[in-house]
Amino acid sequence: MFAVKRALKLNNNEANLMARHAGFRRVVFNFGLSLRTQMYSEGKFTDSKVINEVKKVLTNYVKKKPEFGWMNQLSSRVYQNALIDLKDAFSRYRSGKAGHPRFASRRDGQSFTVDSSSGKVLLSAGNTIKIPTLGTFRLYEALECGYVSQTFTISKEGSRWFVSFCVDAERLPVQQSQASVGIDVGIKYAATLSNQQVFDAPKPLKQAKTKLATLQRQASKQVKGSQNQGKTYNKIGRLHARIACIRLDFLHKLTTYLAKKFKRILIEDLNIKGMMANHKLAGAISDLGFYEFKRQLDYKCKMYGAALVLVDKWFPSSKTCSNCGNKKDMPLSVRTFDCPACGRYLDRDLNASLNILNWEPSA
Ligand SMILES: [Zn+2]
Repeated sequence: MFAVKRALKLNNNEANLMARHAGFRRVVFNFGLSLRTQMYSEGKFTDSKVINEVKKVLTNYVKKKPEFGWMNQLSSRVYQNALIDLKDAFSRYRSGKAGHPRFASRRDGQSFTVDSSSGKVLLSAGNTIKIPTLGTFRLYEALECGYVSQTFTISKEGSRWFVSFCVDAERLPVQQSQASVGIDVGIKYAATLSNQQVFDAPKPLKQAKTKLATLQRQASKQVKGSQNQGKTYNKIGRLHARIACIRLDFLHKLTTYLAKKFKRILIEDLNIKGMMANHKLAGAISDLGFYEFKRQLDYKCKMYGAALVLVDKWFPSSKTCSNCGNKKDMPLSVRTFDCPACGRYLDRDLNASLNILNWEPSA
């Protein structure tokens, strides 16, 4: 069993709907917790008994009061699941795995769970997801195949809402069409594959980075501590967040593609090239994104049943001729590998990716 998680592409109304449900979950959880504490002081009750009582009070009394009428506009599955959470929190507390349940606050993060009361639902492949009792929402990254699941957790991380659900399978049913691939994570291009495919960073990422450089220059010329400089810094902060989002989307799409396409994927263990490169030159994966790239590729390979091979970080993939094995110096500015020994002449990154593909661990 494993979890599938996707960022939701919500408009303001939809995001507002999610926030209201998260608030609903918090109110129910806290109401249940305080009622339970009262009942506990009145005598011994089992957790199930307490939850049933809380449910009765909520359904027959609270939800009927006009000031709580808003609850009836929201998914009743939220409150069922909030009470299940409360019950779990108490069993964890009793088994010594956690402290006494605390009141939920907005600061702990916003999340809630809904499920389909009529059993598992089929989710179709594509750019949208139909979440039981909530509706259909757009996704940033498509569901690549149909899934069957019952329980869905919606949570907010940063400024984004995510949906996650568990899939009951050993691994995702994917049959990779290609055998092996070596990947050179580059500076000029995000990734060069040994089969000659090249992945470039998305245009919006490049545009955002150019804009960022402009703003940073602007801020440096403004009066220190002035209101205008403050405004520029705010813009810079927002742009940083946007760049992180675009990069994450790009990495997710790339790693999903790779893990589904190739049975065996070879990458270098450490992106030394990216670390040495001038920061301005660094591409989508080079600057800070390499660890995220490796992390995603690792779990997606496990998910889809592909093998990820990490090539020794000291392996001179750029300096070696992929044809004859001759080694020569290759400064970062040299874009082509021109072998004096065998005459092979090819793109620098492609040469590196072929070496990575053919790498074998030394005994
Ligand atoms: Zn050669």
